[in-house]
Amino acid sequence: MASKQGTGEHVAVVCPECGRRSDDRSRIPIPSLFHWRRTVPAGIAFLASISFAIWLASTPRTGTIGSGSAVAMLIDPPFTREQLESIAATNSSSAKNLLIEAVLNAIGSANDRAPGERHLDIGLVDGQGTRARSASIGWPSPWAWEWEYRQYDDAAARSGFRPGMTNPVLRPLGNGEFPRNLEDLPPRPRWALNATSLVHQPPPEETGGAYVTRGVDFKLIVPFAAAIILGWLLVWLAVCLINRFRKNANPIHGRAAKLAAATIAVIAVLMTGILAGEETDQFTFGPFGRGSSEQHGRPPGKVYWTRRDYARPGLTVRDLEMLEHSAGADQIVAEKFLEALDRIPESPMRSQRPAYLSVAADTESMYLTGRHRTFNEKFFAFSTSEMQFFRRGDLGPMDLLALPRGISLHYRFGYLSIYFSSGNPDALTRRITIHVMSVGMIILAMWLLWLLARWSCSGVHVAIVHHRRRTRRCAGCGYILAA
Ligand SMILES: [Zn+2]
Repeated sequence: MASKQGTGEHVAVVCPECGRRSDDRSRIPIPSLFHWRRTVPAGIAFLASISFAIWLASTPRTGTIGSGSAVAMLIDPPFTREQLESIAATNSSSAKNLLIEAVLNAIGSANDRAPGERHLDIGLVDGQGTRARSASIGWPSPWAWEWEYRQYDDAAARSGFRPGMTNPVLRPLGNGEFPRNLEDLPPRPRWALNATSLVHQPPPEETGGAYVTRGVDFKLIVPFAAAIILGWLLVWLAVCLINRFRKNANPIHGRAAKLAAATIAVIAVLMTGILAGEETDQFTFGPFGRGSSEQHGRPPGKVYWTRRDYARPGLTVRDLEMLEHSAGADQIVAEKFLEALDRIPESPMRSQRPAYLSVAADTESMYLTGRHRTFNEKFFAFSTSEMQFFRRGDLGPMDLLALPRGISLHYRFGYLSIYFSSGNPDALTRRITIHVMSVGMIILAMWLLWLLARWSCSGVHVAIVHHRRRTRRCAGCGYILAA
């Protein structure tokens, strides 16, 4: 009763069609670039990319971009008028200019892509406001973060804390909404899913009166996946090189090495992320700012705003950046600041509380036209805009202004903006903004889809080969070897 199933009983045959031996167990090569095992995964990835692109570009929404006014920032650590007077009176030869440094820190790089210079506008404000503390770990975008807002009578001196309380009568906040009053807080769900984050929102009764939001961002999958792929690629390259030099020896496959490299890459990303942690503690005017502004002009014409109780010291951000490291520069700047403060008319509204220096950096140019088009609100990947600029009336003649001719790139907070300017102030400047992380996620998703399709095709091919062997055909081409 000898079994006929046993392969040992068959004599090896050479296929007359493709020359493959029937006892050859090695992998069957993919014969051509256009074989279905290549074209099907590529086709699936291609079709998915096209459909995804169409979905991404769906539901376009146009809106207008307004220049508004730059937010006036409180300088932290705070400077009082008395401190400015003492700096102005001191002949210092030090190149460490604490005032300039603090002003530049407070201004940041907001609106630095508009044509023209950024001009300082300064004033004195009382310390009533908010302290915003943020902490995060993670790279290239935060994996975990925490924001905490506290309202104070004097936020500069951190005195007179006004704890918040939940008011169940208020309408609950929507995604991305900020409360109007940090002392009278609307209820929030304790846990929420927000775009790509899981968010924890404890009520102020549990945080000692602070408004706290914490989150874990799932986008961290992107750097991890990139690290794994990079690790694999490096080892694969090394293995290919080694195999090339050891032509006659058995080729190395290096599964363990690939795993080790991937692990090292993941650890490297983890370490970078933990080291790239950030913590800030800022002193702001509160959620909506304070002080009043005056509108000049009416839409659709040229419109700009000026702040009441503020004055221009005649300095630009570029001036400060040039002065930052030169000896005694703080004295010059303090003198100019005091001159400007003296020009502000006494206001009966001014409280008796200590007054701190506040500064805004206004762009010389405002939008005459500003239109932007966003696509697919569910998954933001890119947007387009077109704009035209004019000079604010309080900084010179209200002429049209343009960015220098050419293409310029600007990267900020994960958004890459590409500006296309003809250099002609009468023409529109165009801009494409890409959310780098979203595009990375799309590429990764498409690659995974292709990989999955490839594995599925391999699975189908293995099944075909098994079937051929069972029916005594050539494993390579399916030619019938035995009657
Ligand atoms: Zn064959």
